Amino acid sequence: MHQVVLQFLPKFFLVLITAVATHLIMSFGQTLMHYTLGHHAMGGKFFRNHINFHHIYYSKEKLVSRSYLKEEGNNTAFFFIPLCLVGVCTYFVLPVDLFIVQVIACAASFYAHLIFDKEYHVEGSRLQRFGWFRRMQELHFAHHRHADCNFAVIDFFWDRALGTYRRPDACRGSGQGVRALKGSESGAGRQAPDSLSMPRGQTGGEPVRAIFDPKQPLARPRY
Ligand SMILES: [Zn+2]
Ligand SMILES: [Zn+2]
Repeated sequence: MHQVVLQFLPKFFLVLITAVATHLIMSFGQTLMHYTLGHHAMGGKFFRNHINFHHIYYSKEKLVSRSYLKEEGNNTAFFFIPLCLVGVCTYFVLPVDLFIVQVIACAASFYAHLIFDKEYHVEGSRLQRFGWFRRMQELHFAHHRHADCNFAVIDFFWDRALGTYRRPDACRGSGQGVRALKGSESGAGRQAPDSLSMPRGQTGGEPVRAIFDPKQPLARPRY
């Protein structure tokens, strides 16, 4: 029995390392793409979708809803398409059993990202009973209040690595390091969060402002 365990131990660790590494690559990819494509003009349609829908559905005035609002402009699935394509290429590198582990871990990580992204914004989520979830939710809400921080959905240590991490309590304070909103606002509950604008220089002019018009749910951003 002892020998059998010793025989399978290296294999078990190999499977574990493959699964964990797959999830970490997925979560880093999500964080990086959220930051680069979701919040910068070079993201094109992704940028416009993310700013004009998710960040407007859930502004700092209203961070939760009874059911998850995602009818239009949800990018989450698209963030993972390139990562999945890279994963397919590993078929030619990894042994079949580890490739299968990777596919399962990839699907589980993808699903977890979808679930967390949804549960953060659903009123009375069942996950609210857990302290770790409430902590993660506050970190995500910090992103909605000040969109220049906390781009991760699950693994916020990636934000620490990218220098974009912000503690939830830091957002309720004096707003240190956060730029003030400029330009017109579209009304209470419709206000875009800080730093939804792009860094200057990418448009050569004023920062982009996302304005939501309730009569035009498919409104395009004003540049
Ligand atoms: Zn965002
Ligand atoms: Zn969100």
